Amino acid sequence: MSTVPLLEVSGLCVDYGLGEGAVHAVVDANLVLRKGEVLGLAGESGSGKSTLAYAVTRLLRPPGVITAGQVRFRGSVDLLAAGEHELRGLRWNSIAVVLQSSMNALNPVLRIGTQIADVLRTHRPGMDRGARVARAGELLEMVGIPADRLRGYPHELSGGMRQRVMIATALALDPELVILDEPTTALDVVTQREILEELMALRDRLSFAVLFISHDLSLLVEIADSIAVMYAGRLVERAPASAAYHAPAHPYSLGLLGSFSPLHGPRKRMEGIPGSPPDLRSAPAGCAFHPRCALAFDRCGTDPPPPLLTLNAAAADGAGRREVACWLHDGTHLVPAELAGRLEGTS
Ligand code: SF4
Repeated sequence: MSTVPLLEVSGLCVDYGLGEGAVHAVVDANLVLRKGEVLGLAGESGSGKSTLAYAVTRLLRPPGVITAGQVRFRGSVDLLAAGEHELRGLRWNSIAVVLQSSMNALNPVLRIGTQIADVLRTHRPGMDRGARVARAGELLEMVGIPADRLRGYPHELSGGMRQRVMIATALALDPELVILDEPTTALDVVTQREILEELMALRDRLSFAVLFISHDLSLLVEIADSIAVMYAGRLVERAPASAAYHAPAHPYSLGLLGSFSPLHGPRKRMEGIPGSPPDLRSAPAGCAFHPRCALAFDRCGTDPPPPLLTLNAAAADGAGRREVACWLHDGTHLVPAELAGRLEGTS
């Protein structure tokens, strides 16, 4: 797998509103996604994951404002400075986005085939009608829907099939990066698993990179190469997926893993995380997670934890780097058994 970053997010900050009343929805986010890699971005609703995705793709709408940072695509394209013309050239062609409610975004009065062909007509003006129909059929079959469904209308398809149509449409122009924001959340577990397996098979075949956003960390660790966890607008942990699963270093990651059943393997008891994510208009002092953290101690209520500390210095420049923003890992504390036992041998 190439080590050249396809997408590099550095110091990204996004506010809602301006001045003293601004809500800091994303604070100093740093992410790297390499060609062909799957990066899972986890966190509960309101953690800032979707805002980050909207900012990266320049789909953010007022009162959202990008206040700092840089987003580079293929190293040379500055997405935050790109003009509308350049962005139009990149969207669909190079960067495709499937948003949370996109399966409900299909036009109910247009046939499926017409809607896929519209994307091809707009972005591949040289393609004739026959080639567009053939490509639309090929795309549908790629996501497990018979090509004769091109003549169908959205209401004739199940929710899972409509979501597959959206994924097929996103892949229409062979993008290098696909951003999927909770693409299977509204679907039952069986359909969810089928779609994810198909998606990962397509990723293996077509080598596009994926930024997969979900509140379900258990799902992400099954499909992603690496994981980033967000809480209250900040990244609190970054790790290879296997390390995030076997040895979560942040108490919030540990709580998220205990909140969802895995897609595969034996059933397990759901623990959940007590309380709710904070209202960002009045986020708690210190570590924003402290009111819900069973491992909190005095300092957590007063001092914000340092931004992502590297746990395994030997991998500091490599893809296996493990980072966490939590006072328990600043080197002056005994890491509690809940985390220490899991961390053994993982650095
Ligand atoms: Fe919990 Fe304190 Fe770590 Fe925050 S800094 S996650 S409150 S232990």
